[in-house]
Parts: sequence; structure tokens; C-alpha cells
Amino acid sequence: MTEELMNNCRICPRECGADRLSGNRGVCRAPAEVMVARAALHAWEEPVISGKNGSGAVFFSGCSLGCIYCQNYEISAAAEPGRTQRAGMQSAELPGKAVSVRQLADIFLRLQDTEKANNINLVTATHYVPQTAEAIRLAKENGLRIPVVYNTSGYEKVSSLRMLEGLVDVYLPDFKYITPSLAQKCSRASDYPDRAEEALREMVRQRGEPVFGPEPGNEENRLILSGVIVRNLLLPGHVEESKKIVRYLHETYGNRIYISLMNQYTPMEAVRDDPLLSRKVTKREYERLVTYALEIGVENGFIQEGETAEESFIPAWNGEGVR
Ligand code: SF4
Repeated sequence: MTEELMNNCRICPRECGADRLSGNRGVCRAPAEVMVARAALHAWEEPVISGKNGSGAVFFSGCSLGCIYCQNYEISAAAEPGRTQRAGMQSAELPGKAVSVRQLADIFLRLQDTEKANNINLVTATHYVPQTAEAIRLAKENGLRIPVVYNTSGYEKVSSLRMLEGLVDVYLPDFKYITPSLAQKCSRASDYPDRAEEALREMVRQRGEPVFGPEPGNEENRLILSGVIVRNLLLPGHVEESKKIVRYLHETYGNRIYISLMNQYTPMEAVRDDPLLSRKVTKREYERLVTYALEIGVENGFIQEGETAEESFIPAWNGEGVR
């Protein structure tokens, strides 16, 4: 099944048809085997994900969206849509290590049993969904009990999300843009708003209302066990865009989802010359967004406090924990 999907790959909305089995690369630049850049405890997610013990984050190499301002660009580095890459490009060109489904399942189990992670946090696994679904299934057969969090750009196909039904407990999608021209400019994906809306509808259908429980060993903390948290990263100069997104999310889903408003945008080298994206978000911009969310009645939400827009929050992609 997985092999069939890899020889004419259409598992993400790019549908670029790359024959990954023959060594070709699509927009995501991913080979047929899973590449993992880092697997370690991570403290920088929402408190209901990280808790005190930390989230067991598995960062996958490659990305099908490839935002121009990506803070993880070293491991994402998507290719130009429409240009698949020739056979012969080696997996060494993406940072990280290639792992089998069995090894990926073992990584999940090690994060649970040795690192005592609160959950398995799959960061940008979109282009490896079939293999990841197999690995979760295998890990569950071998004792994986903690929730599985699917942490995604939101640019997903419903058919791929259905492969994860019953395996993923918490969906953690971004909702980055609602205006196609902005999605095109920043991610070369004018269809992002449509795909993200469809994907979110499917995620809420699968998981329903959020469910919380105490953190093991820190019972005063609450962790999300099931449900959907939607993130919006406020872009500098784009408060109105984020307001439209928050309104859409609130009017469509109300309290069935949590909304996480993020201010940690970090200008990277690639956007140094962009008139808006080359700076951080101001305190005033973020306050305007948070005030708006409160005014329209958002109750289930997370906001960020203090200085979070620092490159030091970006982990090292050195293959830590991948073995
Ligand atoms: S997952 Fe990668 S190869 Fe497959 S359709 Fe998407 S971009 Fe193309």
C-alpha cells in the first residue's frame, strides 16, 4: 500500500506525482523512506501539549509547503512547485537520517518509555503519512499509550488524513492564510485556504470536542488528550488577515476547537528584503489580534506572553534522538 502511494505520489495537495520509489523527489524533496531530523523532548509547544515533562517531538525532514519565512527551513527546503527533481538526488541532501517504519515505531516507544514524553508530537509528517500511520500502528501494538499529536502546516489532503483516523489523538494544524494571494506569495500555494478549510473540517470530524486530563507526575497541570488546536502565526503587517482567520474559525467551530495565537514570527535571511516580513511582529499588533479574539467571544484559546521571537527557540537539526 505504502509503496503504491510512493511511485506516483499524490499524498499532499501538491499532487506532483513524483516517483519517489525510483529516487525522484517532489516539491517536498522527500525520498520514499522516512527522514527524521530530530527526535527529542520539546518544551516550546502550548502548555497543554508540552506540560512539564515535555512533548516527544519527532521533526520530519522535507516539507510540501515551503513558506518563504520558514524558521525550520534547514530541514524543510521545499522545491519549486511544478519542478520535480531527478533520480540520483541523495537523501543526504536533506538533513536527518533515514529510518524504517520499525525504527520510527521504536523512536516513538523510546520517547514514551525512556524520555517520559507526554505525547508523540509528529512535526510536519504530511509527506510521510502512509509510513507514519504504519509506524503508529506498530508502536501501539507494542505498548504505545500516550497521545499522538499531528502537528501540521494545515496543507493536507482529506484522503491522507483518513489514513490517520483512529491513530492520531490530537490534531495541531496551522491555519496560515485565508487570502489566496498571500498564500501564493508566502508559500506558492494559492489553494492553501481551501485545502486548510477541508482538512480542518476532517480533523474536527475525527476528534470532536477537546478532552483533557492531568499530566502524569504533575497532576495540577492539564494536558490535551484528544481534540483539535488550530494555530495562527501572526505575520508582521498582517493583523487583518489573522483577524479574518480567527473570525472564520470561531464562527465555524466555536468551542469545539482551541485557537492558539502565536507572536513568535522570526525574520529569517530569506525574507531580509521583504518590506513587511523582514521584521518581527510588534507588541501592539499582537495585542490588536488578541483583543479582537476576545471581543468576538473566543474562549478556548492560547496566547503567548513575553519574548518568544528568538532564533534560540529553533532546535538543532542534528539527528538527535534518531537511532
Ligand atoms: S508528498 Fe511530496 S512528492 Fe508527494 S505529492 Fe506532496 S510534494 Fe509531491
